[in-house]
Amino acid sequence: MIISEQAAERRQDYDGASPFPGAEEHVTASRVQVGLTGAIVVVPFIALGVAIFLAWGQGVTLTDLLLATILYVVTGLGVTVGFHRLLTHASFTARPWLRVALAVAGSMGFQGNVVDWVAVHRRHHAFTDRPGDPHSPYRYGTGLRGQLRGLAHAHLGWLFADDQTPAERYAPDLLADPAITRVARAFPALCALSLALPFLAGWAITGTLYGGLTAFLWAGLIRVALLQHVTWSVNSLCHVIGNRPFKTRRHDRSTNLWPLALLSFGESWHNGHHSEPSCARHGVDRRQIDPSAGLIGLFERLGWVSNVHWPDRERIQRRRAGPPQPAPEAHRFE
Ligand SMILES: [Zn+2]
Ligand SMILES: [Zn+2]
Repeated sequence: MIISEQAAERRQDYDGASPFPGAEEHVTASRVQVGLTGAIVVVPFIALGVAIFLAWGQGVTLTDLLLATILYVVTGLGVTVGFHRLLTHASFTARPWLRVALAVAGSMGFQGNVVDWVAVHRRHHAFTDRPGDPHSPYRYGTGLRGQLRGLAHAHLGWLFADDQTPAERYAPDLLADPAITRVARAFPALCALSLALPFLAGWAITGTLYGGLTAFLWAGLIRVALLQHVTWSVNSLCHVIGNRPFKTRRHDRSTNLWPLALLSFGESWHNGHHSEPSCARHGVDRRQIDPSAGLIGLFERLGWVSNVHWPDRERIQRRRAGPPQPAPEAHRFE
């Protein structure tokens, strides 16, 4: 959907509490698109049921869990370090081979092709929590009902809407990068590889087809489902629950949510991130575990990345919010 000038104008009047203009005109995408998205979202959960059924009494093997962990870490860091910190926000410069490797790893996370992912995320930063944001939990207003509906929209519902984010406008740099557009075109093949690898590894390690199938379920589909929901939780929960130690732009309600820090590889320090989007470290305070920043630091020591935007203590202090402000207009779940 190309945003009309009228809608852009209405956006200026946003008061921070009302439903977004046009929120009810939730145009559903084409049948094929809805069917595909539905399959991507639902099939991993069916797999979870099947996997638990199979595991009952027989157990899930250590091989399955190890493969699942390895693939979760590789694809997860591909999304956080590659798609997000490198390609969306340019918080460091990577050698060309590493840039491609990270884009490939992220693509295997089943979160859309790299160019579209970056375009949507840049649009989220451009319009955070106000009309124009592709996945704001405040879309339907800040009343309890609107807030719950908004959470569902921010987590998952937005994927089903026909609300195209033009890559020409939001990611022209990536469209001009032949290596990255090649990775984007290979997205379906990389998704297939992401599921084939655990199957083949499980088969090879156990020597049985059954071993390949349980690895496919645990390290393939279930691992994909977990990473998807953790990423979506940053979009939904990390704009509603948690604390806001840093100043952000008007209407931006991003939060830091510690329970998700490890699983999200540091991305749930989301208020820190929105406050300083190009910073390579999101967990900028003591004891804020940020494995993505740790990996970027390791790459830097190896000489594979340069120009890393590490946090600047003085800037951080300046961005620190005063005593916590109650947000009377917002429904808080704290
Ligand atoms: Zn956000
Ligand atoms: Zn971001």
